[in-house]
Amino acid sequence: MKFLPIFLDSHAGPILLVGAGDPVRARLRLLLAAEARVRWHATDDDFAVAGLDPAAASRIERVDDPTTIELNEIVAVFCAGAAEIGMAVAARARAAGLPVNVMDDPAHSSFIVPAIVDRGDVVVAVGTGGASPVVARRVRERIEALLPARIGDLATLIGRWRKPVHDRIAHAPLRRRFWERVVDGPIGALVLAGRSDEAEGALTAIADPSAYAGEQNSRQDEGHVTLVGAGPGDPDLLTVKALRALQDADIVFYDELVSPEVLDRARRDAARVPVGRRVGKPGIGQDAINRLLIDAAKSGQRAVRLKGGDPFIFGRGGEEIEALREAGVACSVVPGITAALGAAAESEVPLTFRHEALRVTFLTAHKARDAESVDWSALTDRKMTVVVYMGITAAQSIRNGLLAAGRSPETPVGVFARATRPDATAVVGTLDRLPALVRRIDGGPAILVIGDVVSRSAPWRNSNLNSLLQTFQMAAE
Ligand code: SAH
Repeated sequence: MKFLPIFLDSHAGPILLVGAGDPVRARLRLLLAAEARVRWHATDDDFAVAGLDPAAASRIERVDDPTTIELNEIVAVFCAGAAEIGMAVAARARAAGLPVNVMDDPAHSSFIVPAIVDRGDVVVAVGTGGASPVVARRVRERIEALLPARIGDLATLIGRWRKPVHDRIAHAPLRRRFWERVVDGPIGALVLAGRSDEAEGALTAIADPSAYAGEQNSRQDEGHVTLVGAGPGDPDLLTVKALRALQDADIVFYDELVSPEVLDRARRDAARVPVGRRVGKPGIGQDAINRLLIDAAKSGQRAVRLKGGDPFIFGRGGEEIEALREAGVACSVVPGITAALGAAAESEVPLTFRHEALRVTFLTAHKARDAESVDWSALTDRKMTVVVYMGITAAQSIRNGLLAAGRSPETPVGVFARATRPDATAVVGTLDRLPALVRRIDGGPAILVIGDVVSRSAPWRNSNLNSLLQTFQMAAE
């Protein structure tokens, strides 16, 4: 390590900035974002900067001659695009013992500027000793993806409570444990979910030393359940939040729809419990699942309920959330890419299209009986795309229902099976022939998309050769 990372208090005194063009404006924005007061000399005499808010602009003070400016108060010097004047200023500043940075010129700098991840009170600085800003930026991007957006809020909240908690919990190890529980438990989860007010309330309620005197009585407060949308199968379609929840989990309760590749992303030590229906076998039932989730949270575990697609699209997430709330268990929901969106993206079917498809309906028709109870007359609008979940066994009834209600037999339909998985298959045809199309896919899960937009699909983009062949066969028949 050739450079020592330190954080400069931007309120300690003004910063001198010298330079021109985009480089100096980039530096100026950085300094203003850090709430610094800036004495600025534009070497090309162009002091215009677009888009500054008045508060930031008021912290800028113009300097006419940086080579003679009084350096007493200045705490650091930045040169960017400043050419010879920059060299002169840098030499003077160094002689005066001030830290100096000349952009892209380590030889004349006594410090370098890191790549920065800025989350309010949480700031991560990444350096490569000046060797490669591009590598530093890549590292920064990875950290950006890893850090919750509201981690800064969490630090701010804790900062506010530090002193009161210090006064109430004198014993340092106990205090540390208290904060660990706040950060890792439901209070931390609330802040990260944007519910800082509730977090503050919870913190007020527990910031009582007697509650943390023993290990036992606080255990059950720590657990929580996160309902996580696993997406349609491709693990790269997990959201950053889903990944984080999986990485934090003590136990994962997963559905039969969740692909092994997604499950693989859970923390290595997390227990994995299948709770879905197996083919031909009934599942353990919703009540039993609710009970498992509640028990896990009450025993202090961070439980993830991992569901295919999105938890709130035909996923019974609503029922689980209600049961958890009723049981007083802390919970939150991470959305996922629902099967319709995964399939649409993969096969390039725009679910809405200007002038052509103005509405989308998601419905489910699991059995012929369900299909018969659907009001198909509400789905005959030609400008509506209809997506049917769990519609494979009822395909015949769906076709009959829509045709009887008056939708054209020529309406394009697509059957998208195992969308976004390595063995994805797509078959495209017309509504009239839906039952025959459905027979062509080799097992589910599969989704039906009905509407003119399906004719815009690009089945040839599908990596699966099989589906390509089937499409040709359809065309030939
Ligand atoms: N919550 C899930 C849906 C659960 S219902 C979601 O938002 O996607 C189960 C149905 O979803 C299946 O019967 C099938 O119609 C559809 N489905 C789930 N994954 C799919 C996939 N990879 N490809 C096609 N359809 C899928």
